[in-house]
Amino acid sequence: MELPIEQDGMHYEGMCIRPPSEAYSILLPVTLGCSLNKCTFCGTYKDKRFTIKDDKIILSDILFASKVMRRQDKAFLMDGDALVIPQKRLMWILDRVREHLPWVKRVGAYANAKSLRMKTPEELLALRENGLGILYYGVETGDDELRKKIHKGTSARDCIEMGRKAKQAGFRLSVTVLLGIAGRKRSLEHARATGRLLSEMDPDFVGALTVMLIPGTPLYDEHRSGEFDLPDEAELMRELREMILHTDLTRGLFYSNHASNYLPVKARLPRGKQEALDLIDRALNGQVALRPEWMRAL
Ligand code: SF4
Repeated sequence: MELPIEQDGMHYEGMCIRPPSEAYSILLPVTLGCSLNKCTFCGTYKDKRFTIKDDKIILSDILFASKVMRRQDKAFLMDGDALVIPQKRLMWILDRVREHLPWVKRVGAYANAKSLRMKTPEELLALRENGLGILYYGVETGDDELRKKIHKGTSARDCIEMGRKAKQAGFRLSVTVLLGIAGRKRSLEHARATGRLLSEMDPDFVGALTVMLIPGTPLYDEHRSGEFDLPDEAELMRELREMILHTDLTRGLFYSNHASNYLPVKARLPRGKQEALDLIDRALNGQVALRPEWMRAL
C-alpha cells in the first residue's frame, strides 16, 4: 500500500502516559484516548474522544522513530487500550514495527477486559508472535461493589478470566492496583479482595499506585462533597500490608515504587512477602521515612 508520509516528528496529542517500565521505550501513539473513559478517579483522557489513528499517521511516526530512536529496543503503543484495535490493523502496526524498527525486541500496550474479550486465543497468540510481548492491565480493585462504584465496567471474575487468557497466549502481564480508592471505610475489604484477585490472576508484575484526586473527575467532586474520604498515610500503609498479605503469586514481582506512593516496596512473591510486611510494619512504627507529600506525583 502506497501511503503519503509526513515526517515532521511524532504525532503526540494532549496528555500522554505510559507505564513506568516503558520510560525509555519508543512511544508510538496509535490510538487517542481510552475507549472506556468512565472510571471516576481517572482524568487522563477526559479531553480526548477515543479514536484509532489513521494508518498514514501511524506509519509516519514509525518511520520518524526509525530515524531518531535507534537505541531504544522497546516500543509502547499509546494511548489507552491499543489492544482494542481490530486484529488486522493491529497486526499491520506490528508488521510495520518489525519492518522499520528491527532493533525493537518487545512491544507493549495497555489492555482491559473488553479488549481482551474481543480477541480470540488464536488472535492473541498471533499478536504475541508478531512482537507484542507485554500487556498492562489496570484492575484497580478486586472488590466488586467498589468496581461498580468507580465505573470499571467489569467484575473481578472478568479480570481474572481475561488475565489468564492473556497469560495463556504467552504475554507478560503487568497489573496495576489502586491504594486508597475504597476510601477509609472499605479500605481493608478492598485490600483483601484485591489480594484474592491477584492470587487468582497470577500476573508477572503488580504495581500498586495510590489514588490522587484530579480536579474535574467524579471522585474529586465526591471528595469535595464529603462523600469520599481519602485514607491517611498510616491507613494506606495498612491497606498495602493487607493486600500483600492476601496476595499469593507463583513468582510475581509486587512493587509500590510509583511516585504516587508514600512507601516504596519491592517484593518477589512468595519469597519476599515477610520482608515486605516487616518493612511496612517498621514504616508504621515510624522507623522508615516516607516519601514527602511534595514529592508525590502521578
Ligand atoms: S483508568 Fe484506564 S480504563 Fe479507566 S478511564 Fe482511565 S485509562 Fe480508561
